[in-house]
Amino acid sequence: MSKRDYYEVLGVAKTASESELKVAFRKLAMVHHPDRNPGDKEAEIKFKEVNEAYQCLSDGEKRAAYDRFGHAAFSQGGAGGPGFGNEFGDFMSDIFENFFGDGRGAPGGGRGRGGAPGRERGADLRYNLEISLEEAFSGKTETIRIPTSIACEACSGTGAKAGSKPRTCSTCGGYGRVRAAQGFFAIERTCPNCHGRGEVVDDPCTACSGAGRVNRERTLSINVPAGVDDGLRIRLAGEGESGLRGGPSGDLYVFLSIKPHPFFQRDGADLFCRVPISMVTAALSGEITVPVIDGSQTQVRIPAGTQTAKQFRIKGKGMPVLRSREVGDLYIQVSVETPQNLTKRQRELLQEFDQSASDENHPESAGFFSKVRDFFVSGATRA
Ligand SMILES: [Zn+2]
Ligand SMILES: [Zn+2]
Repeated sequence: MSKRDYYEVLGVAKTASESELKVAFRKLAMVHHPDRNPGDKEAEIKFKEVNEAYQCLSDGEKRAAYDRFGHAAFSQGGAGGPGFGNEFGDFMSDIFENFFGDGRGAPGGGRGRGGAPGRERGADLRYNLEISLEEAFSGKTETIRIPTSIACEACSGTGAKAGSKPRTCSTCGGYGRVRAAQGFFAIERTCPNCHGRGEVVDDPCTACSGAGRVNRERTLSINVPAGVDDGLRIRLAGEGESGLRGGPSGDLYVFLSIKPHPFFQRDGADLFCRVPISMVTAALSGEITVPVIDGSQTQVRIPAGTQTAKQFRIKGKGMPVLRSREVGDLYIQVSVETPQNLTKRQRELLQEFDQSASDENHPESAGFFSKVRDFFVSGATRA
């Protein structure tokens, strides 16, 4: 089967920007997502195709290689390599968890699908990780300690004392479920003897009391990429609680939250900072020093006659966009501070200024009050 052009798959122009790609991808991914099209093979193929196209085009290097060589760029030995592996899987799960929230239903828990009786998939674990805005900016490696249970070493997870073995449950014959007749119906229920395990431990392991796993604290190193946002989930497959009696491990979900910053507010990749300036700087012009999230400072020129709430944009000083080379902007919003606690001399100077002031100095208030006058005058005529 020949492969469709990636741009065609996403329905975008060859010149599409990263954000256009993202929008197109999200739209298509939502439409074809397997959770929304259960059992629809065609949707599944489309979904994979869309993923693959986006994975390639959203990566600057891969996109450049694709633009030059087409699909040949990624056939074996080609530039860029296949690379549609693990990392992508994780990324996909990140964004889909963001999209679909909890509505997808928590994976795992209880018995693994179609697994042998007695084997239980370990529970998924949740870990809340709070980081600062600066850490979200630069990315960080966080070492976390999670209380979890791991397979018991003494019994290799079987739950039976060393030298002994669990035996097959005689009540259910190892099936884990039993049938019982009730009126006309045969119903099937969990075996009361082995509680669904299919086997019975006569001589339980002393280290784990027969559970097959023990509680332990584990240390994990989590790589938090630069540009993460509040509410993001990172899934670490297989890092959850270990399974029972040889069942697969659950997953670990790291829920990220970002601490509020004392003076930066974030909106996507852009940062906002409110900076008070003096009345004199606002009137006469001047330069102010403002903070940047990377820990540096930068200058902003304030032109003469600047009003409160005026915004100044500093390009490229915002947050990085997750897994892209884009960077947001920093917006400085000034607020003009009215001077307080004036000395006698300062009062005199301001009064002197006021006497010499005209409507030209305050066009906005002059305009406003003339509108108010007109309003009352026309009101009087109406009456
Ligand atoms: Zn044990
Ligand atoms: Zn049984």
